[in-house]
Amino acid sequence: MSFTKKIIVAMILGIIAGIFLNIFTYDVSADDSIVINLFSVVSDLFISALKLVIIPLIFFSIVCGIISLSDDVSLSRLGIKTLSLYLLTTVIAISLGLLFSSFIDYEPILLSNLESDVSIDNIETESNFFPTNIFKSLSNGNIIHLLIFSVLIGIAASKVKDKVKTFVNYFHEFNAVINELVKIIISFTPIAVFCILSKTFATQGLETLTPLMGYFFTVVFVLLFHFFITFYFMLKTFTNLSPKKFFINIKDVIVFTFSTSSSSASIPFTLKAANEKCGINKSISSFTIPLGATINMDGTAIMQGCATFFLASLYGIDLGMPEILTIVITATIASIGTAGIPSAGIIMLTVIFTQIGIPLEGITLLLGVDRLLDMMRTSINVSGDLCISCIVANSENRIDETIFKS
Ligand code: ASP
Repeated sequence: MSFTKKIIVAMILGIIAGIFLNIFTYDVSADDSIVINLFSVVSDLFISALKLVIIPLIFFSIVCGIISLSDDVSLSRLGIKTLSLYLLTTVIAISLGLLFSSFIDYEPILLSNLESDVSIDNIETESNFFPTNIFKSLSNGNIIHLLIFSVLIGIAASKVKDKVKTFVNYFHEFNAVINELVKIIISFTPIAVFCILSKTFATQGLETLTPLMGYFFTVVFVLLFHFFITFYFMLKTFTNLSPKKFFINIKDVIVFTFSTSSSSASIPFTLKAANEKCGINKSISSFTIPLGATINMDGTAIMQGCATFFLASLYGIDLGMPEILTIVITATIASIGTAGIPSAGIIMLTVIFTQIGIPLEGITLLLGVDRLLDMMRTSINVSGDLCISCIVANSENRIDETIFKS
């Protein structure tokens, strides 16, 4: 059985096992269930192993990528192109979220008894854009700081690469070792996917969906629309690559990110797909993928647009043109500032709600369906990173079309 098939089978079995456990352990709390606890341990172990390799993976692959960039690829051109495309898709995503939500007539529902249990622990705040102490940034897991530091080391190393051949060789060798480690961790994906999904569905169940159907299905619809229509047109407009092939190439990543709900934890996997499935040269993907996992969150922006519209309707707040513009701007900034970890997007909603004057307790209303939506929007976040990476790599002639088409 191919790796993709194994992951898909694991996903389906995981969902079935989770729903089964949810029904049959209804009188046992999730904390007391041995099976659910076992699944939690396996899931946590896998996600921790992935997080463990993120820092060395990004560092070595960016430095090696920049060293091997030929002189005709300008780093600033690459940066400007990537950032502009990331911003463009995010603005499209929020606008779609708002547009489609405006077609829905949300019935006001009971807004009392909301307990505020939105926790802001563990969310990395990226207040200082430029690093001052790289060790501190590394221990805080600040990816933007790591990106800046790696790019600077890469630029310095490429300037003296003929004089520091041993240094360059060491970096390439470290890079090869880290890539091997990633391969080993990723080989456990089917087991991890099974455990993560069983645990999620066992603890969430499907009944949480019912009161929020309208909001839930609007977000799902817009996510799918953005995936199939926006990405399709982006690829058609900016490249000669086949969108259909692109969708097929990234199917493993979609399933994987659906399970992890974390763009950051998925970086090793996304990079692998970018290189081995889409044929993107490592010198491009090592820069665009970690950057995208940190700042490009189309799926999150869609959820934020829909959630703002949904709660504004429930609280009877009118959204005119000035409010819509405020939402587009704040949601763009909020989605850039959203960490690539589970539930970060819903917490960043506080930024938009504060701007528009929506009571923050409204967020607790969305929590029931947010775990499921998080899985889906993370897949769209990462697909967006891959789509833009293909466009940028194609424009720099750094995509191997034989790999892309195969
Ligand atoms: N889980 C998402 C991600 O990692 C962020 C979010 O909560 O929207 O991309």
